[in-house]
Amino acid sequence: MQQHSSFDVIIVGAGPVGLTLALALTQSARGIRVAIVDRRPVSVPRDNRASAIAAGVRRSFEALGVWSQMLPESQAITAMRITDSGKNDISRPLFLTFDGEVAPGEAFAHMVPNQTSARALLEGLGAAATVIAPAEVASYDVDSAQARLNLVDGRVLTAPLLVAADGARSALRTMAGIDVFASDYEQTGLVATISHAVPHEGVAYEHFRPAGPFASLPLPGNRSSLVWTETGEAAKRLLGLDRAALALEIEAGMGSTLGAVTVEDDLAGFPLRLQIAKAFVAPRLALVGDAAHVVHPISGQGLNLGLKDVAALAEVVVSAIRLGLDHGGVEALERYQAWRRLDVAGMAAMTDTLNRLFSNDTAPVRALRDFGLSLVDRTGPVKSALIRTAAGLSASGPRLLNGMPI
Ligand SMILES: Cc1cc2nc3c(=O)[nH]c(=O)nc-3n(C[C@H](O)[C@H](O)[C@H](O)COP(=O)(O)OP(=O)(O)OC[C@H]3O[C@@H](n4cnc5c(N)ncnc54)[C@H](O)[C@@H]3O)c2cc1C
Repeated sequence: MQQHSSFDVIIVGAGPVGLTLALALTQSARGIRVAIVDRRPVSVPRDNRASAIAAGVRRSFEALGVWSQMLPESQAITAMRITDSGKNDISRPLFLTFDGEVAPGEAFAHMVPNQTSARALLEGLGAAATVIAPAEVASYDVDSAQARLNLVDGRVLTAPLLVAADGARSALRTMAGIDVFASDYEQTGLVATISHAVPHEGVAYEHFRPAGPFASLPLPGNRSSLVWTETGEAAKRLLGLDRAALALEIEAGMGSTLGAVTVEDDLAGFPLRLQIAKAFVAPRLALVGDAAHVVHPISGQGLNLGLKDVAALAEVVVSAIRLGLDHGGVEALERYQAWRRLDVAGMAAMTDTLNRLFSNDTAPVRALRDFGLSLVDRTGPVKSALIRTAAGLSASGPRLLNGMPI
């Protein structure tokens, strides 16, 4: 038997991006009816990773009333030090340092454990959205007024707007026939949490090495989250090491910046690729988060890009509804796409170029990039522009990213 339910917006995917969108829409004073569908039960994930949350996104969490729950378990990044070294170098020469804040007392990013953000988002959402999970999507179709989402168990959900927040392998994106630009980095992203002898003092380190960047990002206490890239074979070897042997490799990788380290959890590996959807919208469908774009983790921007999509889409939807317009119609969707494409293309190009430039041990390339880095280091305005871009701040950006309610 078929059961029908109608909503204003149906979000498929209850990852960080889908949950934040549900929160932003249900909090707007418009009584928007939101359904969120996931193939897994919607709860705090078993995920030991932490993500760098840029200042703009932190402001949106503040505007949505969930930042105060995240703050006690988060660590402000007060400075960033970038080093560049060759294969056999022992020292880690400093080429670029970013100190300071985007505004007085406001760090340009915070490290937030993924479980902390998920818990705060779920608590903030409460019962405001209808959660349909676990549920598998079978297909969807659209007409001039509605999208119909057909679930495998026979349920049918309808809404003027369907949102694909179902991650990098988005089923909705495939069903919509949206192709992707994809390029495999042939690198593996390795992630671990460590404790260490020397306090980090809020400093994030990015060591550029021939195999790829090695980042250590500060967590509360004497702990840091590591994200680094290796080629496939080297990653396989590291994934097979016990924690004591791995600790020695990490100390070597960081040039002993943080002293002796203890590895707290098993190393996890993720294949890395660049993947950008050729369109972010289709009739009555918007893509957000990893469903729309996957970038290299070199500058910790992946989730931030997705949360910037949320700020833009939520504002487009709420203002269309406020004006009595069709929030899933062509005009609203085109506005969303135009708002996001340039930022995403720019960030994808930047992370791609950085990765190619820094995963390289050829002498002329190293000389050129070190010259570039030290030039940036000595040029104040360039540095502050870079910080503001990485922090996701722009006066013409969506209201949430400037800390204002929609
Ligand atoms: C090594 C590494 C380090 C990273 N570090 C950072 C960082 O420091 N800062 C940062 O900003 N980003 C970082 N990222 C990127 C970040 O993890 C992702 O961008 C983010 O998780 C994407 O969130 P999402 O909600 O779009 O997708 P996901 O987190 O993938 O969530 C998708 C959801 O959709 C559900 N789903 C999937 N398919 C279906 C379906 N067919 N039907 C129903 N539900 C479905 C899934 O169950 C899941 O709940 C990193 C990535 C990697 C690989």
